[in-house]
Amino acid sequence: MSRLFANIVGQKLAVSLLTRALEEGASHAYLFAGPPGVGKADAALAFAAGLVCPARGCGTCDICRRVQAGLHPDVRIVAPEANEIRVETIRDGIVPDAPKRPFELESRAKVYLLLDAERLNEEAAGAFLKTLEEPPPHVHFILVTDRPERLPSTILSRCQLVPFSLVPTPAIVDDLRERLGVPPARAELWARVAAGDLSYARDLASNERARRQRERLLDLARDLPEAAPLDLESALDEIMGTIEIRAAERAAELEQERDKRLQWVSNARDRAWVEKTYDELLRRQKRRQVSLGLQTVVQVFGGWYRDLAMLAAGAEEAVLNRDRIEELRIFALADSIPSYLAAVACARRTQERLRYNVDARFALADMFLAIKEALT
Ligand SMILES: [Zn+2]
Repeated sequence: MSRLFANIVGQKLAVSLLTRALEEGASHAYLFAGPPGVGKADAALAFAAGLVCPARGCGTCDICRRVQAGLHPDVRIVAPEANEIRVETIRDGIVPDAPKRPFELESRAKVYLLLDAERLNEEAAGAFLKTLEEPPPHVHFILVTDRPERLPSTILSRCQLVPFSLVPTPAIVDDLRERLGVPPARAELWARVAAGDLSYARDLASNERARRQRERLLDLARDLPEAAPLDLESALDEIMGTIEIRAAERAAELEQERDKRLQWVSNARDRAWVEKTYDELLRRQKRRQVSLGLQTVVQVFGGWYRDLAMLAAGAEEAVLNRDRIEELRIFALADSIPSYLAAVACARRTQERLRYNVDARFALADMFLAIKEALT
């Protein structure tokens, strides 16, 4: 198997489909669909590298590396601005650009990668359809989404599906041990807590702040029935603050990467291009980090009540937060199962709301109050 996909864990079906496509000739449009945090965007960049690289994705040349870093002019990354992918982006950006030859002489193809493709608004989807139907021979589209059902069927039917799934726990354990050198018992714990979300498991294993945030959230979930309004306010400040800090940390890493890259760029035009591309990358990453951070907060918080429900129902082996099991045992009450389930449902609804640019702080505050009420 090509070393292009070495970083994609626990996605045998997707990786074998993509490897075969690179060997035997790729279609013009793909839909990478599956849950968040399992490596769809990384796989899309790796596949794009395979399409553009003259050696069909050696994984080691400068072209492969630049594509995978999101820094190749023949791989255009399109992401929603605010809440949607606008018609202008498609009509003025992609449609007239697609027929042009690749920018670099060595490129075998041009790739458009649409992140969160379900955010194509109706008009944008309409404008996209013709190009998607009859793309120029050197053009490929990769649509990435965790909500394929929200895409119009006219678009779905023109894409080849590449399915991604939750990463199996043993695969996460192996990844944490081999890649990050996490001791076995810890690797087991983080893999379980993350419940198939590889990027969260990696985060827990490698970042102290992520671990502290989790502890705080579980404490907060435990203490919620007795929490005073003021405690909740300060908890919210802390949660939002941590999310911002994590996003800023990631931005600082990207800035360092950019500065390293700029050392090797001598002419002014290339310099300007790298700077501009990194600016976009930074903005996109910041938005993404904040939105992932919020989803994780709610997931972890709701996870406490999920575990209480499991324990109260006698399904101890299904508990995710194994390091807190003693405490969970003390709090789990059989006749409270309906309240726990109401709390879990409330967390789910909040995750849904947070996807749509609602005021995050307000949505979290709302969730705390609703769950507090459900529990008392
Ligand atoms: Zn290569």
